[in-house]
Amino acid sequence: MINRRQWLYGVGIMAGTAAQSGSVLAPSAGDPQKTQHRTLDVSEFVPTSMLQVHESHVERARFPVIDFHTHITTSASSESGVALASDRQFLGTTEELLAVMDRKHIRAMVNLTGGYEKGLDEAIARYDRAFPGRFYTFTEPCCERWKEPNYPQVQAQAIEQAHRQGARGLKILKTLGLYLRENITSGELVKIDDPRFDPMWDACGRLNMPVAIHVSDPLAFFTLTDRFNERYEELNNHPNWSFHGRDFPSNAELLEARNRVFARHPRTQFVVLHVGNFSENLANVAENLDRFPNMTMDIAARIGELGRQPRSARKFFETYQDRILFGTDATPHGDEYPQQVFNDQLYEIYYRFLETDDEFRLRSGEDPAPGAMAYLRYQSARNGSS
Ligand SMILES: [Zn+2]
Repeated sequence: MINRRQWLYGVGIMAGTAAQSGSVLAPSAGDPQKTQHRTLDVSEFVPTSMLQVHESHVERARFPVIDFHTHITTSASSESGVALASDRQFLGTTEELLAVMDRKHIRAMVNLTGGYEKGLDEAIARYDRAFPGRFYTFTEPCCERWKEPNYPQVQAQAIEQAHRQGARGLKILKTLGLYLRENITSGELVKIDDPRFDPMWDACGRLNMPVAIHVSDPLAFFTLTDRFNERYEELNNHPNWSFHGRDFPSNAELLEARNRVFARHPRTQFVVLHVGNFSENLANVAENLDRFPNMTMDIAARIGELGRQPRSARKFFETYQDRILFGTDATPHGDEYPQQVFNDQLYEIYYRFLETDDEFRLRSGEDPAPGAMAYLRYQSARNGSS
């Protein structure tokens, strides 16, 4: 005898339910008529797509590429998400970077996290000056000076100094809004539209330095880490990536504060990273692009979201093509963020996504290892999207 539930499973009607709850059904060894309910750890679920569809290999971009969003250097000393000194870590040698760039038709890479002062000098000397036209480095705010009473002026002067050093723009990490606090690592969170940053935004406008700004994070990071969370696996692995609860503002509050900055500084160009930091809601990104002529965006590390709404994404790209920058979030040896590792495969994924009509397909028998296109498209992302 089988009960109704088992019968429904048997004819496949509840198969979706079974997959969602992380359980599988397999015939028991002795009696193929009987089914046995097993549990499967979600981290072990590595399905092979059965779709028989064409797969293109795009080894070189059709046109020369500028990767607007890379992290060739990063801060060597951060605490609670706030960089506290200018020292840089150099993640890739120019030889290894240029080899991939030449193979993949990348004319230039923009190194967003160049720091300031001495660290910035070193980054510019090692990359920008050594290979003109191939590397461009951005500066970052000096958060360790936040407590100084004249910080607004100090920071504006630091931007001018960085510009003289050769920095081409300013990078704002999600530090602003989510990590930087009144006492740097303690106290109340500093708001994105805090007026103490106004001279910094204005200095960038005056010097024609675009601001590459990352605020907020994937929407799922602001909801409970439970079985309904589409990024459960990565949040479960990195609980500190969650901004749910505690004293964190909501995603909407962060974006509203950001928009007030755009409105207040119309002469400053803002490149909003990761699909306007709201790849889950392209209608909202479109609305903001319409509203703020000083806003553009990149597509770094969000193929997972774009690929799951291919029709809307295509329309969006066609409408806003002159406002969208190519970027990947490439991080040489960034093994902690599998989706961002700088290598040939990373660029092939983007080129395939942008240049072909290929459909979703996980290669047969392939572990959805870091960089697999299907993984990017379907499973949204594992990275912390820095
Ligand atoms: Zn990044």
